[in-house]
Amino acid sequence: MRKKILILGGTTEARLLAGQLGLREELDVMLSLAGRTIAPAAQPVPVRTGGFGGAEGLSIYLSEEKIDLLIDATHPYAAQISSNAAQASALTKVPAFALRRAPWTPIKGDKWQSVAGAEEAVEALGKAKRRVFLALGRQEILPFENAPQHIYVVRSVDPIDPPLNVPNVTYILGRGPFVQADEMALLKKHRIEMLVAKNSGGKATSGKIAAARELGIKVFLFERPAASDMRAVSSLTEAVKLADHLLSLA
Ligand code: NAP
Repeated sequence: MRKKILILGGTTEARLLAGQLGLREELDVMLSLAGRTIAPAAQPVPVRTGGFGGAEGLSIYLSEEKIDLLIDATHPYAAQISSNAAQASALTKVPAFALRRAPWTPIKGDKWQSVAGAEEAVEALGKAKRRVFLALGRQEILPFENAPQHIYVVRSVDPIDPPLNVPNVTYILGRGPFVQADEMALLKKHRIEMLVAKNSGGKATSGKIAAARELGIKVFLFERPAASDMRAVSSLTEAVKLADHLLSLA
């Protein structure tokens, strides 16, 4: 009998993992997206979209669909769904693990400051007018309206709608991966002095961090939310190995 895997996605890693596992004859892989992105990236396996209705809803889904393995490959800042996944796995006894990117760590030349979130970032930017790059999503940028003195460049996957109520803002739409040379050109073009982002980890969006290092730009990184207590791996290779192990295929 084919084994059924549910991957909670919305990340590059989830797509790549689904691509690898989806090629296997003995596996039936379904990818789950929250449905936040207007035009989500194409996926290599069948996709279901939208919330499950909390941990309880996810438990019902796992049971009804007879899922053999749950993989939480959501973004490190998507804390609610990860907590739901851990609870649903505990409730249903469906084996589960998380594929979670390790955070970036500072190296020589980095000028980083950790902030709890957008409100603290707004404080940390200071009162003086600065040229600020916000690599943040729609849900996170509203507090920057409280600092209208800055000149903002906002890059997001989906349009910021309604737009920020500040006098000086440029919007850029973009979905990673981003190449360091392009990031450098972008930061230079807009004469960026400060950058605000999440510590997403991984290579797809690390180009801006490397570019900021080279240009001496101060970087404010949101602290990561606490990870769920689910067993976790940080690479695709480990994820495939653990999936095989938990499905007793290796
Ligand atoms: P979240 O706050 O942890 O989740 C809020 C609710 O959205 C969950 O309780 C769940 O609803 C639903 N949900 C989230 N991810 C889902 C998934 N993969 N499949 C089905 N339902 C999901 O999540 P978020 O931070 O808004 O992130 C939403 C999605 O965007 C995730 O897939 C995540 O991987 C991706 N993403 C997030 C970020 C980020 O910075 N947060 C960045 C890049 C990509 P129910 O309780 O109704 O099940």
